[in-house]
Amino acid sequence: MSVLVVGSVALDSVDTPFGRATEALGGSAVYFSAAASLLAPVQLVGVVGRDYPVEALDFLVQRGVDLTGLIQAPGESFRWSGAYSYDLNTAHTLETRLGVFASFSPRLPERFCSAEWLFLANIDPELQMEVLDQVDAPRLVACDTMNYWIEGKREALLELLGRVDLLLVNDAEIRQLSGDPNLIRAARWVQRQGPRYVVVKKGEHGAFLLTPDMIFFAPAYPLEELFDPTGAGDAFAGGFLGYLAQAGAVTPDELRRAMVYGAVMGSFAVERFSVERFVDLAPSEIHERVRAFREMTAFEHPLLESARV
Ligand code: AMP
Repeated sequence: MSVLVVGSVALDSVDTPFGRATEALGGSAVYFSAAASLLAPVQLVGVVGRDYPVEALDFLVQRGVDLTGLIQAPGESFRWSGAYSYDLNTAHTLETRLGVFASFSPRLPERFCSAEWLFLANIDPELQMEVLDQVDAPRLVACDTMNYWIEGKREALLELLGRVDLLLVNDAEIRQLSGDPNLIRAARWVQRQGPRYVVVKKGEHGAFLLTPDMIFFAPAYPLEELFDPTGAGDAFAGGFLGYLAQAGAVTPDELRRAMVYGAVMGSFAVERFSVERFVDLAPSEIHERVRAFREMTAFEHPLLESARV
């Protein structure tokens, strides 16, 4: 089953304590597709300018990403530049240039309208809604956002939340959105705006999923070397949605597994600059990391097993 994604397709310039990337492939939809396409077919909706090196996206096409919905328009591509200090959990945006996204009005190719799994990646909430309006009967609609839109398009964002099943955001974003510093209360606040499911990502401190019936926590994969946290959240979403689309069901057990696939894909994103780590990532590397997660988090307790405590 395909996952449909709309989001930014960008050129990123990023500074970290470990190096620098200039005008590298980036954007929420690109990171998402790089991760999700390792688990399920992906359909991408977005826009780039005439200056975009579209051939650099060939690795996505080879992995079954349908780029029919990516149009090239006159004007400049979306550009984002950001910097991180040693606290890699916080990106400092230096510049956001919407370019061709400022006047983008997405028209979905006919075959995209029957998508069952929909990810409205980080982009203007009005564009996210325009895409949602064109999809006939999605089984699961998930979305992401960031401070730029929370500050600039709050009304549209709240309207969007009323129409989605799942919100994936990081800790700073959900605090800003809800006005509540406590993450559990903030996630409950989000649930009252619409989404049944809320995923809160906390960088190197893992992520949790809140549903009406449970809380599930997934740690971050313990890496000794990481270079660039950009795109970790989008890759997490790609792992999460890609896994659910492959599983074909949204049950509590599948949601827990989806959290682990999200954490695994997020961990690959940060190991190199841009989407480099995904270009030739082998399925066996994914399986190995999923297995490592199970080993890192499973434990038995004889007293609990025998119900004596
Ligand atoms: P993440 O690190 O997962 O939150 O996402 C980083 C990606 O988001 C980068 O590749 C940027 O190009 C993209 N990005 C940054 N700011 C925005 C924005 N305001 N709207 C959409 N995408 C953005």
